[in-house]
Amino acid sequence: MSENLDELYQQVILDHAKAKKGSGVLAHADAEKHEHNPTCGDDVTVQLLMSADGDRVERLAWHGDGCSISTASASVLSELAEGVRREELTGMIDSFREVLRSRGTVEADEELLGDAVAFQGVAKFVMRVKCAMLPWVATEGALRLIAR
Ligand code: ZN
Repeated sequence: MSENLDELYQQVILDHAKAKKGSGVLAHADAEKHEHNPTCGDDVTVQLLMSADGDRVERLAWHGDGCSISTASASVLSELAEGVRREELTGMIDSFREVLRSRGTVEADEELLGDAVAFQGVAKFVMRVKCAMLPWVATEGALRLIAR
């Protein structure tokens, strides 16, 4: 990976850590799931609001305290998930996990993962992989709670 790309990705992560897109608590949600990362101390609760037919994610909101990587990851995910069908979201989660667990050997698909490609550099830092995965794992758990 070129140095410029590394810098660009770092900037995307910093921007999202600040912007905290989707941060907040929904008055009504169809499912919510809390995840904790004991290694770093990150806490995140993800709430999903689905469309009336239960097929699409209308909103993905999250709250909690975490490092900048887990916060930025939640922010990116919230943007990505909006309006997406649940199968598509599951596909994104699987793809993101594959990239992050690859120790840098699998390149992220930008068309599928959008800004989340910025986290592919994190895959080289085993200690931070959990930070980046945390909101995605919480979302996976929340999706499982929603009856079809
Ligand atoms: Zn962390």
